Amino acid sequence: MNANLVNKSLLNLIESHISPIPECGCWLWDEDESTQINYDKLSIDVEVFMYQIYRGEVAENQNVVHTCQIACCVNPEHLSLRTKTDGIKNDNGGTCKTNELESA
Ligand SMILES: [Zn+2]
Repeated sequence: MNANLVNKSLLNLIESHISPIPECGCWLWDEDESTQINYDKLSIDVEVFMYQIYRGEVAENQNVVHTCQIACCVNPEHLSLRTKTDGIKNDNGGTCKTNELESA
């Protein structure tokens, strides 16, 4: 992931896959398999992307986790950083399909 890749067309593409839910404030990613998107031959982690756009840098030893427990939510306000050494799986449920996070 490279923050320098950020550009308008990628952001537009990502936003076209997001469905904001007013009741809970979640921005649900509409792809079932994972919160990843292929762009320009790259596989981009949308959570990381959104965090970097709206919140700030994500260090290499940090994971983006969901404070709302919804695995497919990409609302930057619902994302938080956790160092990988914490070893905590934060995504363990929700109203939509969840991803099995790889435990590093
Ligand atoms: Zn959320």
